[in-house]
Amino acid sequence: MLRISELKLPLGHPPDAMEPAILARLGLSATDLVSFAVARRANDARKKSAIQMVYSVDVVLRDEAAVLRRFEGDHHLRVTPDTGYHFVAKAPEGFDGPRPVVIGAGPCGLFAGLILAQMGLKPIIVDRGKVVRERTKDTWGLWRRSELNPESNVQFGEGGAGTFSDGKLYSQIKDPRFLGRKVLTEFVKAGAPEEILTEAHPHIGTFRLVHMVENMRALIESLGGEYRWQHRVEDFDIEVGEDGVRRVTGLHIAGQGHLPARHVVMALGHSSRDTFQVLYDRGVHIEAKPFSIGVRIEHPQSWIDRARFGDCAGHKDLGAAAYAISHHAKNGRTVYSFCMCPGGTVVAATSEPGRVVTNGMSQYSRNERNANSGFVVDIDPERDYPGHPLAGVDFQRKWESLAFQAGGGTYQAPGQLVGDFLAGRPSTVFGAVTPSYKPGVHLTDLAQCLPDFAIEAMREALPIFGRQIPGYDHPDVVLTGVETRTSSPVRITRGKDFQSLNTAGLYPAGEGAGYAGGILSAAVDGIKVAEAVAKQYVAEGLIS
Ligand code: FAD
Repeated sequence: MLRISELKLPLGHPPDAMEPAILARLGLSATDLVSFAVARRANDARKKSAIQMVYSVDVVLRDEAAVLRRFEGDHHLRVTPDTGYHFVAKAPEGFDGPRPVVIGAGPCGLFAGLILAQMGLKPIIVDRGKVVRERTKDTWGLWRRSELNPESNVQFGEGGAGTFSDGKLYSQIKDPRFLGRKVLTEFVKAGAPEEILTEAHPHIGTFRLVHMVENMRALIESLGGEYRWQHRVEDFDIEVGEDGVRRVTGLHIAGQGHLPARHVVMALGHSSRDTFQVLYDRGVHIEAKPFSIGVRIEHPQSWIDRARFGDCAGHKDLGAAAYAISHHAKNGRTVYSFCMCPGGTVVAATSEPGRVVTNGMSQYSRNERNANSGFVVDIDPERDYPGHPLAGVDFQRKWESLAFQAGGGTYQAPGQLVGDFLAGRPSTVFGAVTPSYKPGVHLTDLAQCLPDFAIEAMREALPIFGRQIPGYDHPDVVLTGVETRTSSPVRITRGKDFQSLNTAGLYPAGEGAGYAGGILSAAVDGIKVAEAVAKQYVAEGLIS
């Protein structure tokens, strides 16, 4: 099978336009083509008056060798790669050796657990939160009644931070082994729409994610895996062996006692601040890392559609428009859009009492009135929170607490209109844009809860972004804050064997450990770490 990439057809082309386009591209007649299937579909909207659909297509031909010879040197025609997943090891039937433990049932822990289960290693997956249905009720408790459950919320519980999200499933990671394809394939088996296998920018939305994590749980359990909910790991047993190597030997689960464990995947997410503290106290190597701070920005989706697609806005093959923009400000900071959610809502994403954090989510249809996106500024340990591996956590807490106060102390988010933000005055009344954040937005001056350098850089960027996306800096556009959890404030550094630099048996993984930034990359990291655990089992002679 051969793969043609960069095959372009005009927006709105009929489905039967594909075959003649393939034949024309390859200079073949219909009898030479056995079959074809779309492998990837994107759009190119750089020229709004002539938007094109851009395809990769897998073709089966009568004489592929001859075509390959004829197109030698053509980078857009090659043998279709093997994107199948191949296990690195398998436990024997009925394996009853030591079970690996996975901490965290977010995308990283879920895929680490799934791969370990598929290899026959019967993992135990512990999570501090609840099963997704119960967790949903708790999460809505904050959004509807301003009641936060610190153990069951947008950050903690089945499905992890990605459950109440836009469910964007793409990433910039290098993926030579096509592990992302394994993730998407498992998602489809668990109920995701098949189009995620071909769309260049696939997304699932919140409701579907809820069903999918339930189906994946059932699969993992059917393979001998076991979940333990409301099991918060509160401490780690670490012993120094006769060989002088520090090793994890067990976990302490709050209120549940001790769990022996010598192979521990730590897929904690970026909000498990108490666990970061325990790891630091136990001497596990941990370092501060850069992340970003800013706000959510909300525009009517129709403005974004118009700006990106012109007269084609609303076309069924385009869906709600997204954007990604950045600007290097004069004060040395980079301002950029983060986790853009077309047709979605801004959500309350704190996991700690007395703090306010924003993020964004959407449903599969992406048909809510507003587009939202993080509008954030980069920060790093050297400049902004020097001196201690956990100083980034203190930095986040400070601004999140100030946001809680600026919002009136009721979990409402502090908000400001762009016109007032640029003029440096508090907002008092909404204009053309109605914000979506629940439990509500309290108009004020965001300067109370953002660092000066961030405000300066954001003020500089707004008109520049407004030139790229007309309406971006409209005075009525609403900003809500603060957006502090763009990625983990720490890296729990690991070596080539994926184990902690100084604690054997501990496998830092996913976003919380600083090795992923999003659902897909966290899931891919979960696969890699599961493979590393399996290789260690082989090295220890536990399986072959
Ligand atoms: P998490 O998903 O954070 O999972 C960590 C899990 O560990 C949690 O379930 C937690 O309960 C558990 N845990 C933590 N500490 C302990 C402990 N001590 N003991 C036991 N269990 C513990 N990314 C995208 O790619 N696309 C999007 O559209 C998108 N939208 C988002 C929207 C929102 C509102 C949020 C909050 C995030 C969004 N993200 C999105 C980011 C994405 O969700 C994360 O990158 C991803 O979930 C990280 O996966 P993870 O498994 O590493 O960690």
